[in-house]
Amino acid sequence: MITIDIPLTTAYLKEMVQINSVNPGLSPGGAGEGEIAGWLARTCKELGLDVRLQETALGRPNVLARWPGMGGGKSLLLTGHMDVVGVENMPGSPFDARVEDGRLYGRGALDMKGGLAAILGAVAALRSSAFQPAGDLWLGFVTDEEYLSAGTELLVQEIRPDAAILTEPTGLDICIAHKGFAWLTLTTLGRSAHGSLYDEGIDAVVHMGRLLNRLECLERDYAMRREHPLLGRPSVHASVISGGVGWSTYPDRCALRIEHRLLPDESAESVLAWWQAALVELSAADPQFQAEVQLDFVRPGYEIARDAPIARALEAAYNRVIGETPVYTGMFAWLDSAILGRAGIPTVIFGPGGEGAHAAVEYVNLDEVFRCAAVLAEAAVDWTGAPA
Ligand SMILES: [Zn+2]
Repeated sequence: MITIDIPLTTAYLKEMVQINSVNPGLSPGGAGEGEIAGWLARTCKELGLDVRLQETALGRPNVLARWPGMGGGKSLLLTGHMDVVGVENMPGSPFDARVEDGRLYGRGALDMKGGLAAILGAVAALRSSAFQPAGDLWLGFVTDEEYLSAGTELLVQEIRPDAAILTEPTGLDICIAHKGFAWLTLTTLGRSAHGSLYDEGIDAVVHMGRLLNRLECLERDYAMRREHPLLGRPSVHASVISGGVGWSTYPDRCALRIEHRLLPDESAESVLAWWQAALVELSAADPQFQAEVQLDFVRPGYEIARDAPIARALEAAYNRVIGETPVYTGMFAWLDSAILGRAGIPTVIFGPGGEGAHAAVEYVNLDEVFRCAAVLAEAAVDWTGAPA
């Protein structure tokens, strides 16, 4: 069994939490990933890995580090994002990386510098053992997951490992599925007129009521009847509505932004088609009803079979390290694994737990960081294989 260096892994985590890497896409003026990328590049070089930077935006590079295999084995990517969400809601010092009762506190401790520290702790342990991988072992530290995922989008253009483990916080469960989402805008078009001119005006806001009613029906008649064993049901909700100009004016336009949360087998095209059909029906029933639907943004969900080789390798490693069978789980939130999966890289999600991702108080359980590191190290040995 590989032994994790606990003080070293804790020091890695502390240093990373102390580096502000707030995503500037989310929080204007955020520090970005430049400094932490520099720190990670140095640390990976100290570990003897080949390091290269991949610029995803000015001063915001991915760090790709490679432990070249001796040949003949499968390659593995251990990956996670360097960016963190804003700290506007955090009292005190969000980057002080305070340790208390086995927890390390601070923005990004859980989401997901704990997972990055587990990766570094695993590789440091493997480097100080006699292990030599047969296949390449890749580390991918990416930018911008909390906003547009520019980091992983670029990473998959450069490397195609045989499998990946994404160390987002799962509380040491093995996550094999997560939801996707689609953002759409529905617009009803009326006719502007003075409020007294009932036979001239067409009220776009009232017409939006019909679409809101359809949304309720969709939730009741479709979404509530589907059930994924790990992800529950899909859902749709109204997010933002706007329309109307004044008391005495018929509104000529009303816009409603909606969000669908999708199961892995659902596509944005299918929800778009559903809305297009609803608009056709409503216009057929009332010639004055006029509306449009537009798909603004989509992130498909993701799922991998529980018996996929990378899941089995991780489960075997988990068994050896923890002495139990792991829990398989799904996550509601969207993750970079969907991009990795779509690029043909079978990916499972496995990382340390804690509480408060994106919240006012955030911490990671140190013990879970160390156990995660030990499982990752064992899984990497199994997957990348020692040469004969
Ligand atoms: Zn995350």
